[in-house]
Amino acid sequence: MSKTKFIFVTGGVTSSLGKGIISSSIAKLLVARGFTVTIQKLDPYINIDPGTLNPYEHGECYVTDDGAETDLDLGHYERYTNVPTSQANNITTGVVYQSVISRERKGGYLGETVQVIPHITDEIKRRIKLLANRDNLDFLITEIGGTVGDIESLPFIEAVRQMRWELGNSSVVVHLTLIPYLAAAGELKTKPTQHSVKLLQEQGVQPDIIVCRTDRSLNEGVRNKIALFCNVSPTSVIECIDAETIYDVPILMKKENLDLEILRKVDVQTEGEPDLEAWEKFLHTLKNPTRNVNIGLVGKYVELKDAYKSINESFIHAGVANECKVEVRSIQSEYIDETNVKEKLNGLDGILVAPGFGERGIEGKIISIRYARENNIPFLGICLGMQCAVIEFGRNILDLKGAHSTEFNTSTPYPVIDMMEAQKKISGLGGTMRLGAYPCHLTKGSHVADIFGTEDIAERHRHRYEFNNEYREAYSQAGMIPVGLNEKDNLVEIIELEGHPWFIGVQFHPEYRSTVANPHPLFVSFVKAALDHAARTN
Ligand code: GLN
Repeated sequence: MSKTKFIFVTGGVTSSLGKGIISSSIAKLLVARGFTVTIQKLDPYINIDPGTLNPYEHGECYVTDDGAETDLDLGHYERYTNVPTSQANNITTGVVYQSVISRERKGGYLGETVQVIPHITDEIKRRIKLLANRDNLDFLITEIGGTVGDIESLPFIEAVRQMRWELGNSSVVVHLTLIPYLAAAGELKTKPTQHSVKLLQEQGVQPDIIVCRTDRSLNEGVRNKIALFCNVSPTSVIECIDAETIYDVPILMKKENLDLEILRKVDVQTEGEPDLEAWEKFLHTLKNPTRNVNIGLVGKYVELKDAYKSINESFIHAGVANECKVEVRSIQSEYIDETNVKEKLNGLDGILVAPGFGERGIEGKIISIRYARENNIPFLGICLGMQCAVIEFGRNILDLKGAHSTEFNTSTPYPVIDMMEAQKKISGLGGTMRLGAYPCHLTKGSHVADIFGTEDIAERHRHRYEFNNEYREAYSQAGMIPVGLNEKDNLVEIIELEGHPWFIGVQFHPEYRSTVANPHPLFVSFVKAALDHAARTN
């Protein structure tokens, strides 16, 4: 294909309808037809990125290979398509205004009045086209965050209007809405969809395809009504019925011919069907597990649905790889203490201690790790989880009383986790973190080298603190071995415990790289170890 086609995905009626899942499903279907595709998320908030937003505001912050802190929808994109995303795949109002204002300060507008139209919209369009051109794509799917009618998303919708005008039939707008069922009337109602499409039309954008979230099938009458009132053909009204799992959605969208409808609108001829064999196989195993395994997720945001999104999805992928269902039990680390740890972690065949920032719940994490270590329960510590494992080992095995991370106690006598000198000099939030993919060399013959099946890996990071090298020797001698190193900066990236069936701490975030096509080896091995534990102890 010579020229990139642009697919814009907007949402109406309410938020949380799953624009990210619809965008990812479209991408999956197009990739499965052999096209090159990427997805971009435009977020209307004024923060530069979600890196400084707390999980209560925004759920998980997803990190790309190139070190961008991004919206969690980018995680869905990667998990569905297996194509890595980058900084350019997530644009916020903050980023757009920051570049326009800095250009203005440098005199870049030659005395013009700088305005939302055309300057802000030009910058939005520039960033959309930049990604399409950079990767020479067949399709760029651009998801506009928020709901049509939000004041803050107006410039993004206006940019879409302008691009539609410039691109002609090289673009298509997919609008996602909700068709509620009113029990009193015994009917599905189309009025909210009609209103949301009208709002979009008032802003100069006519959607081509309307995807309708619904909890029951749309009958022909409903489809025709939506088509008539919204200026689309009945075949462009796509039903998106509530699914058992988010991984059903590409298949459901294929049944509704969403991919063909899009291809028809942008005049792209194709033959045959998308190749979804591996996906279907994944779904079949997902829905027909042969056994269950209980794994505890110990963290401080466990009550938030989206705070550990990538970890939960990684367990789904790893469960399928092991043909089992991983029952993830969320455990609030803040409420774990010496007296109740046994009861709280009872019946678990694996314990994952979550990443995080700040002191809340730290002691509960450390106590959980001791329990896993002493009772031979498979343990995976991610980032802060690894740091807590180092603290626990220091305090209880090396007898370093009061050992801690300087993140939580700057005057600890034993700063076993500390900030590197180079990082101390950087100021400004966001700047001080080690972000994105870094190479890591694994020790030959180590457990992790066996798990990865290679000695050189690259994994994504998001943290400020590190294992303090001054303690490396003492830890190694006592059995907590650094087995993964960043050789360039001499940093410990992985520790494992001798004499324990499965005890690994990683300074990076394996969960960001687990996809349906490539479940992460650490999660796969951890789930396998949990199954072995269950077999041993039951
Ligand atoms: N708070 C720790 C640090 O900054 C760990 C961060 C994390 O778990 N992502 O090093």
